[in-house]
Amino acid sequence: MFAIELARGLYTTWREMFNKPVTIQYPDQRRPVYRRFKGRHSLHRYDNGLEKCIGCSLCAAACPADAIFVESAENTNAARFSPGERYASTYEINMLRCIYCGYCEDACPTEAIVLGDNYELSFTDRHDAIYTKEMLLEALPEGGSLTPQEVKPGVYTRSVPEMKDPVD
Ligand code: SF4
Ligand code: SF4
Repeated sequence: MFAIELARGLYTTWREMFNKPVTIQYPDQRRPVYRRFKGRHSLHRYDNGLEKCIGCSLCAAACPADAIFVESAENTNAARFSPGERYASTYEINMLRCIYCGYCEDACPTEAIVLGDNYELSFTDRHDAIYTKEMLLEALPEGGSLTPQEVKPGVYTRSVPEMKDPVD
């Protein structure tokens, strides 16, 4: 009986020796994530550099984990951060609370907050897990200007751009 079990075990080991390994050499090698994977958030900008976030707090209201904190302030044409009346003067996400459900992304009227494919989140301190607006804002697009911008009056009156329904 013991010999049969031993032979079966050895056979399994021998058989697996010829299979392709499933492990990869992370971080040198990275496995692509699934198309709908939800990872670290980023706050997006328009092509001219203006922030898409209008500080409406709909994402915070939709968040089931109470992970988002938003404070808004008034835009002026001399110091404009986003189209419309208001922008997010403070935007924070507590990544220890976040469950990566994507409800914030769904609730956002301007497609400002987007969950990407970055899963490399690690912290050694609870305070480091709070991602600020500066950390979340995406890099400036080519040709765009940093915010706040000085703009002509009457140009950026609409907070929410006209958008098509998603096809996916
Ligand atoms: S992904 Fe879900 S839990 Fe995380 S901040 Fe957005 S709504 Fe909250
Ligand atoms: S990310 Fe979107 S939903 Fe959240 S405050 Fe900004 S505009 Fe509003």
